[in-house]
Amino acid sequence: MIPYLRQWAKNNAWKPVLPMELIIFVTGRCMFRCKHCLIEKFDSDSSRELSLETIERLASDLPALAVLMLTGGEPFMRNDLPELVHIFSIRSRPKVISIATNGFLTNKIVEMVGRILSLPEFSSQLVVTLTFEGIGQDHDNNRRFAGAYEKALSTAKRLKELQERHSSLAVGANITMIPGNEKRILSAARELAGKSLFSFLSQNVYREGRPFNACAQINLSVCRQLSRFVQAYSRSFKMSGNLILGRWHYLKERFQANLIERTCHTNTYQGITCEAGRGIGVVYHDGRVGPCELLPADWGNVKERPFSQIWNSSTNRRLSDQLRLRRCFCSHECFISASVNLQLIPMLSCLSWNLVQTMQGSR
Ligand code: SF4
Ligand code: SF4
Repeated sequence: MIPYLRQWAKNNAWKPVLPMELIIFVTGRCMFRCKHCLIEKFDSDSSRELSLETIERLASDLPALAVLMLTGGEPFMRNDLPELVHIFSIRSRPKVISIATNGFLTNKIVEMVGRILSLPEFSSQLVVTLTFEGIGQDHDNNRRFAGAYEKALSTAKRLKELQERHSSLAVGANITMIPGNEKRILSAARELAGKSLFSFLSQNVYREGRPFNACAQINLSVCRQLSRFVQAYSRSFKMSGNLILGRWHYLKERFQANLIERTCHTNTYQGITCEAGRGIGVVYHDGRVGPCELLPADWGNVKERPFSQIWNSSTNRRLSDQLRLRRCFCSHECFISASVNLQLIPMLSCLSWNLVQTMQGSR
């Protein structure tokens, strides 16, 4: 706890500022071409991906991380993913490491997750989240790949078996609302929940990809129902049996869903200053660094300069301050989550909002 508090204090005193949550796109490769994804624009040349040497330098340059999110492309297409995780688990000791996957490479995913969990000194909560945009044919149509849904389910079943031997593994299902899947997404969520394969459910909303713009294309009423459903399902989720962390996760998810709903409804700033560029950032598979996924990744490249120098350059500090001063807003779950996790006032707002909800519910 002490290293996290120390970095939190440094970030608030502005010397030096370093992220406590980091999103890393470990690869730009994926076997699917989902209709809602920008994968066609990604660079799929594996030779430009970050080498383990660069990862080692990056991880050594970071403070103790609260959350490390590994994404892509499909992260399990990297054959050295367990080694990459090992480096972070030793160097930056993330409390939570989450890996988002489409679940297609069943055997490889199960083998790699097993290796990660058996790594010496591995003490993080490992969260593997399978992504869905529907069930059966709906999911396959969006992925443009017959059988994608069944493969993801068989991966979830095998990971659940692994979870029975490793309490530090959690397996979740992330349900994404995209334009066109509103009518069936709730029944899809119910069917996924009924399979009893997942420790938790979460929800993503397809967004337009611009700051100062929430999610105008989405049916907000369905969005609200879906968010209530996933919250109710995830109520008893405990991270590594840690009741406080699990409870905080639940309270924050509720608060965050309400905040996203209000942001989408009003398309205005809702009083939570974004931590992008300060407590959370993004590193792309080719080394480019940016404050968040919706702004250009033009802050520098970790292949050329240490991350801490990039993050603390006067230009990037100024850009990050401007984002806060201009009250930038969007509906990106990861950045809202980090902003609530890493700032005192949003944290207190989250607790008091939940208290009011509970009191109103008990009347
Ligand atoms: S599985 Fe994920 S990374 Fe691959 S195309 Fe679909 S949304 Fe994009
Ligand atoms: S609110 Fe934060 S995450 Fe969203 S676009 Fe602005 S800086 Fe990026």
